[in-house]
Amino acid sequence: MENHRTMERSRQWMDRARRVIPGGVNSPVRALKSVGGTPFFAASGEGAWIRDEDGNRYLDYVLSWGPLILGHRHPEVVQAVRQALDEGVSYGAPTAREVLLAEAICDAIPGMDMVRLVSSGTEATMSAVRVARGFTGRPKVVKFEGCYHGHADFLLVRAGSGALTFGTPDSAGVPPEFAMHTLTVPYNDPEALERVFREVGGEIAAVIVEPVVGNMGVVAPTPRFLEALDSVPRRHGALLIVDEVMTGFRLRWGAVGSHLGLHPDLVTLGKVVGGGLPLGAYGGRREVMEQVSPLGAVYQAGTLSGNPLSVAAGLATLEVLGRLQPYDALEAAGARLEAGLREAAREAGVPVTVNRVGSMFTVFFSPDPVGNLDEARRCDTGRFGAWFHRMRDRGISLPPSQFEAAFLSIHHGPEEVDRTIEAAREAFRAV
Ligand SMILES: *Cc1c(COP(=O)(O)O)cnc(C)c1O
Repeated sequence: MENHRTMERSRQWMDRARRVIPGGVNSPVRALKSVGGTPFFAASGEGAWIRDEDGNRYLDYVLSWGPLILGHRHPEVVQAVRQALDEGVSYGAPTAREVLLAEAICDAIPGMDMVRLVSSGTEATMSAVRVARGFTGRPKVVKFEGCYHGHADFLLVRAGSGALTFGTPDSAGVPPEFAMHTLTVPYNDPEALERVFREVGGEIAAVIVEPVVGNMGVVAPTPRFLEALDSVPRRHGALLIVDEVMTGFRLRWGAVGSHLGLHPDLVTLGKVVGGGLPLGAYGGRREVMEQVSPLGAVYQAGTLSGNPLSVAAGLATLEVLGRLQPYDALEAAGARLEAGLREAAREAGVPVTVNRVGSMFTVFFSPDPVGNLDEARRCDTGRFGAWFHRMRDRGISLPPSQFEAAFLSIHHGPEEVDRTIEAAREAFRAV
């Protein structure tokens, strides 16, 4: 196992970065604030591996926070982007590949009649909520504690103390008025969902949900919660928006929500469908999507929407995924890793709960089951941080927060998984 030689160059880059970029990073979690220490500066990637500016190699379980299900630099994705690049980087006119990608997405997801391509997951979710509000003529949106739907003002709300407490923004710079139409209820709590609809159901435009949560760490939905999601909003004339930015084409071909019995009005996508380039998408029922401009009155636009390079990367990624159908193999690798991590923690006497769905997993440093945000918060984040660093020292790169999902790619086979378990065995003993 290659141990750390040095992080000298990364440290130097970080010093320079801090002077000109807030916190030295262009997205906060990359700064390692919750586990301490210096992030490595990435220099290149290959398959399951990432290399930093000091030449250290790591088995990568971050994978650009999910998009790289085919690993770093998959040859077909690289080739597709190269070809698109040779043709032209952007036109502001429609292109044939946008149609092919839209068709592929609509084919793969039941009930997805039309889809609009945007440039990020954040854009997809905020646009989907706007469409739901336009379609229903209602103001309010229900989200679940611990679910992340991008950084739009009104979605940066986590928890009111009760279902009907108006949401309090998680971020400075969001006036409470901007969040007052956001209602927050605990995940996996069908009664709380019923309650909020009983009280203000007539004002609710939509419920937005991660079908399998990745953003408080991995949390799977219970069957009763899924039933409530599929019935309660509809009964009250509200739409169901299933946010598959993380899960779409990652947990299975298309949307995992459909497989779990959900019948969303709108689905949001990002991450995997962009193949590592900036791309998001939202779509759904024809009559709902016909509200979007230029067909309808809900305005939504983007100078670089459907960018040719992003679309080429996304299309190539879906082509490879469609051909390989790697989901059984990803499940097998995930199961092997899950079992190994559990065993390694048990041997070392470290109480953990490993939550995993397919190729997404989180090692929660808690002896108790984690099924919602309150339970996730009970974790020993200090011990997680120590483990994160012991793992990184042993060449394994994990998400630098207890409340994130780790990912496998098609290149995380038995050999990579066993190497990870071996590292975990040592790392658990050291915390
Ligand atoms: C990552 C993510 C988003 C935001 O996507 P960005 O591309 O980072 O804007 C939204 N929803 C979910 C479920 C996500 O995992």
